[in-house]
Amino acid sequence: MATDLAPAATKPVVIARDVRKAFGDHQVLSGLDLEIGAGEFVALLGRSGSGKSTFLRALGALDSEVDGYVRVPAKQAIVFQEPRLLPWQKVLTNVTVGLPSTAQTKAQGIAALGEVNLESKAKVWPRTLSGGEAQRVALARALVREPELLLLDEPFGALDALTRIKMHGLLQKLYRRHQPAVLLVTHDVDEAILLADRVIVLTDGTISLDTPVDVPQPRTRDSHECSTLRRRLLRELGVSDEPDAAL
Ligand code: ADP
Ligand code: MG
Repeated sequence: MATDLAPAATKPVVIARDVRKAFGDHQVLSGLDLEIGAGEFVALLGRSGSGKSTFLRALGALDSEVDGYVRVPAKQAIVFQEPRLLPWQKVLTNVTVGLPSTAQTKAQGIAALGEVNLESKAKVWPRTLSGGEAQRVALARALVREPELLLLDEPFGALDALTRIKMHGLLQKLYRRHQPAVLLVTHDVDEAILLADRVIVLTDGTISLDTPVDVPQPRTRDSHECSTLRRRLLRELGVSDEPDAAL
């Protein structure tokens, strides 16, 4: 494993050791180790089918049939590629779903909607939202829980390019404000470089590369440092340095 990073500088909030998962004969995770520090933003890259979602599900306790040691904070939230809103509940109720039904919860839900600029949509049905708006509601639903760990599984993968750029800015703003540890699964190398403190690559069931992104924010795709890192990541992923870096 190529590692040019010392163990997480802050106290780790995520510790995964020797995580293994097989579906029948297909070994998807074959001894994966990872630590994520408090407030650290990590992007996880890997080819389609490499096991990124499987690993995220293990961290999110959505899959109990995983071998190895996993420690994650109790306060965590997940956002998927699809917003997964309940169509029979209004937007605000979607944000506060599962929380105690109190005036305080309602106020927190409205505040979370305000943070994603959707306060005006609190009383509408999810079906009236655009894809980007629905995904912002999903972000609000995650944030209202004030998670110590935010798990994001290709959260912008279904959005058009312009909406995705706006969502990057929004996620950065929310991350700075709330400072959760983040694990962002993405197949988009540029998204990883733009947003993360550290990028890891999953290959053959283990972390094959783990590198900090030592580029000050705001980052631009075409800067020398970003281009160098992009080439390195694409090489690790086994793809050539095409203009469109998506896998
Ligand atoms: P990624 O998110 O990196 O695209 P996944 O973690 O979804 O990959 O899947 C990794 C591999 O595990 C794939 O080959 C996929 O087909 C397989 N897999 C995932 N979930 C299941 C399942 N429930 N049953 C059988 N195979 C699965
Ligand atoms: Mg996946």
